[in-house]
Amino acid sequence: MAGIAIQDLVKRYGATQVVHGIDLTVQDGEFVVFVGPSGCGKSTTLRMIAGLEDIDGGEIRIGDRVVNRLEPKDRNIAMVFQNYAIYPHMSVGENIAFGLYTSKLDKVAKRAKVEEVGRILGLDALLERRPSALSGGQRQRVAIGRAMVRDPAAFLFDEPLSNLDAQLRAQMRLEIKRLHQRLGATIVYVTHDQVEAMTMADRIVVMRDGRILQVGSPMDLYENP
Ligand code: ADP
Ligand code: ADP
Repeated sequence: MAGIAIQDLVKRYGATQVVHGIDLTVQDGEFVVFVGPSGCGKSTTLRMIAGLEDIDGGEIRIGDRVVNRLEPKDRNIAMVFQNYAIYPHMSVGENIAFGLYTSKLDKVAKRAKVEEVGRILGLDALLERRPSALSGGQRQRVAIGRAMVRDPAAFLFDEPLSNLDAQLRAQMRLEIKRLHQRLGATIVYVTHDQVEAMTMADRIVVMRDGRILQVGSPMDLYENP
C-alpha cells in the first residue's frame, strides 16, 4: 500500500471551476472519507486521483510517483463503484480473475491469487458459483475482490453502498472496515452519508463547493461540528 498526496488540485468543466485547489495527504494505511452535499466535487476529486478525469492544475502523488499524466491502469489504484460491474456469465472466480487480465502472472499464480482473495473475503466456497446465486453483499465482495487481486497501492470507493438496503449497508460498512484493518489498506472513500463517515473513517474531509471545509477525526468533527 502507499500514501496519496494531493497538492493544489484544480478541476474545471468549461468555464465552471468545480474543484478549487485542494490540498490533502492521505497516509499509507489511512482510511479517509470525503463527505459533503451532492455536487460539491467529491466524486470529481476521486476520479482525478483514479485518472478517470484530467486535472486542470496541481499534483497527485501515489507513493513516491507523480501520477498526473498516467493512465488509470498505470496508477496501481483500485476503484470500486456503486454499480459494481459483475459479469453474470462468469463464475465468481472468473470475475475476480478478470482483475488480472492484463497481468503477466502465469495461470497457476493467478489461480493462487484468486483463491487467496477469495479466502480474505470469505468467498472461498463460492468461487465456482454464478453471481446470480449470490446475495447483494457477496456480490459487492466480488467487486472488491476484482480490485484487490491486483495488489493495488490504494482503494478508491465512490458511494459503494448507496444502492443497498439499510441492513446490508450496515453489514458492508463493517466488512469494508475489516478489510481496511486486515490489509492495512489505504482507502479514499466518498459518500454523502454521515453515518458511513463517522463509523468508518480514520479522518473525515468535509467538502463544500469544491473546497475542503474541515478535516478531522470522527471525534474531532463530532465535538466541533
Ligand atoms: P459530488 O460527487 O460531490 O456529488 P461531483 O464531483 O459529481 O460532486 O460534481 C461536482 C460538480 O461538477 C457538480 O456541479 C457537477 O454538476 C459538475 N460536474 C460533474 N461532472 C461533470 C461533467 N462531466 N461535466 C460538467 N460538469 C460536471
Ligand atoms: P481457463 O483459462 O483455464 O479456462 P477459467 O475460465 O476457468 O480458466 O478461469 C479463468 C481464471 O479464473 C483462471 O485462470 C483462474 O485464475 C480463475 N479462476 C476461475 N475459477 C476459479 C476458482 N474456482 N478458483 C480460483 N481461481 C479461479
